[in-house]
Amino acid sequence: MTCPDDCFENCGTHVEYMNKNINPVPDTNALSPCKDTPLTPRVAIITDKVLLSLVCSPMDIQDPGYKASLDVIVSEMLQVVNENSDTCVGLAANQVGIFKRVVLIRGDKDAAIFLVNPTVIKCWGGFISCEETCLSRPAFPGTRVRRAKVIKVRYWDPIVDKFIVRTFKDIFSIIIQHEIDHLNGKFIGKV
Ligand SMILES: [Zn+2]
Repeated sequence: MTCPDDCFENCGTHVEYMNKNINPVPDTNALSPCKDTPLTPRVAIITDKVLLSLVCSPMDIQDPGYKASLDVIVSEMLQVVNENSDTCVGLAANQVGIFKRVVLIRGDKDAAIFLVNPTVIKCWGGFISCEETCLSRPAFPGTRVRRAKVIKVRYWDPIVDKFIVRTFKDIFSIIIQHEIDHLNGKFIGKV
């Protein structure tokens, strides 16, 4: 499977991934307490400012245990996004207590896009802002933060298992900058 750099709008791969992983059709039987399988425990969202200030370390993609570790991270992040699908457009791994450099954003058609070890390598197009809120700062009012309008990001794409470089603009640029701030121990009210 390959993804062109500008596949953001029409990426069959990511949409397929989304269909498997995000916003599944609710299965009421699966939620029945009569089932033998225990319910998945809720993933706690980190709101402690000291924890949120910790800088995340990179994923070691050469490590033999990388895939298994990422599976856990992906699962927990998707659970939080699904439970907060009305408000959550992006998430950083440290918001679920995993201090690794992994970011999730919801792209078009709710496709879940995971960015492992993301780095912004170029910004242009001036600046934009919108009212940003944060799951980790539930009591904090929406805050305007100045963000680059267009960014080029290099990240490890776990779907194609390689580093790719991709351009994001407008709201997606804002979300990614917000989430990368989290990885660096920054958050709204402390940006
Ligand atoms: Zn946030």
